[in-house]
Amino acid sequence: MSVLVLADHDLGRLSPSTARTVHAVAELGPIDILVLGEGVDQVVADAAQISGVQRVRVSQDSGFVGQSAEALVPLLAELAEGYSHIVASAGSVGRDVMPRLAAKLDLMPVTDVTALLGPNRFERPIYAGNAIETVTSNQTQHVLTIRTSSFAPAANGNSATIEPVSHAPVISAARLIDALRTEGDTPDLGSARIVVGGGVSVGSAEGFKLIEQLAAQLGAAVGATRAAVDAGYAPNDWQVGQTGKVIAPDLYIAVGISGALQHLAGIQGAKKIIAINKDAEAPLVQIAELRLIGDLFEMVPALMRELEAR
Ligand code: FAD
Repeated sequence: MSVLVLADHDLGRLSPSTARTVHAVAELGPIDILVLGEGVDQVVADAAQISGVQRVRVSQDSGFVGQSAEALVPLLAELAEGYSHIVASAGSVGRDVMPRLAAKLDLMPVTDVTALLGPNRFERPIYAGNAIETVTSNQTQHVLTIRTSSFAPAANGNSATIEPVSHAPVISAARLIDALRTEGDTPDLGSARIVVGGGVSVGSAEGFKLIEQLAAQLGAAVGATRAAVDAGYAPNDWQVGQTGKVIAPDLYIAVGISGALQHLAGIQGAKKIIAINKDAEAPLVQIAELRLIGDLFEMVPALMRELEAR
C-alpha cells in the first residue's frame, strides 16, 4: 500500500491542513505528497519536512494556478495507478477535485473522513454531524477527503526526496481571472487553538469589532454564524458550521450564538465551550462548560477588562 496526498497551499504557503492529512494516513504506508502550482518552492521545501513523507512530487506548470479541478484531475488520475489511497484535505480544493477524480477512476469516494479504522474502513459524520457512519469499502483503491480538524498535525523534522513530475501540457477550459482575498493577521480558523465566534445579535459590522477585539486579546481566530455572515456583519470565510468551516479548537467562546444544529455541526471538535448569551435556555448555552448569562455588550467588555488586568 502507498498513499498520495494532494498538498493544500495558497499564496506560496503550505496549509497546515497538509500535515494533518499526512498524520491521518500515516499508518497506511509510504506517503508521497503531490504539489501542483506555480511559485511553490517554499511549499515543496515545507512539505519535505513533514515526518512520514517519503517523496514530494512537484509540477510547477502555470496551468495549475487557481487549483481548478479541470487542471488537477487528469494528472491525478494518471498518477493514481501507483497508489492504494489518493487523499486530500476536505477543503475547497479537495471537495472539488476528489469526487471528480473518483468518478474518473470509477471509484466511490469517501469524503470528510474523521477516523481511519484500517486501510478500507473509515468513519465520517452524516446528518450534519448528528451521526457517525462507518464505511467499509471493498475497492482496491480509495479516494478520500480528510476532515483535518479531527487530526493533529504530523511533526516536522524530515527531509523527503523531491522529484519533478513530467506530464503532458495542462489543458483546462477554466482560467483564474482574479482572487479576492481577506487580509488579516489573525490565526487560521481551521487550526486555531482558540476561536471567538459572534452571532447576528452583535447587530452590525461595527458591533462585530467587539468580537474581533476579544479575539485579538486572546490571540484567537474569529468565527461567525451564518446569520451574522448573511447580515453582512462578518466575511464569508469566517462562517463556522455545516456550510462553513469545521473547527476543533481547545476553546470556543460563542458570543450571542443560539446554537442551531447547522452551527453545532461545525464546532463538535471544540474541547471546551464558553457561551455568552442572554438566554440561559439557548442550545449552545446548554452544551457549554462555562455559561455567562447576560448582555454581550456588557459581558464582553467586562471579560476584556478582566483579561487586561491579569
Ligand atoms: P440566532 O439564532 O438568531 O441567535 C441569536 C442568539 O443571540 C440567541 O441565542 C439570543 O439569545 C442571543 N442574543 C441576542 N441578543 C443578545 C445580547 N445582547 N447579548 C447576548 N446574547 C444575545 N448557521 C451557521 O452558523 N453555520 C452554518 O454553516 C449554517 N449552515 C446552514 C445551512 C442550512 C441549509 C440552513 C437552512 C441553515 C444554516 N445555518 C447555518 C443557519 C442556522 O440555522 C441559524 O440560523 C444560525 O446559526 C443562527 O445564527 P445566530 O446564532 O447568530 O442567530
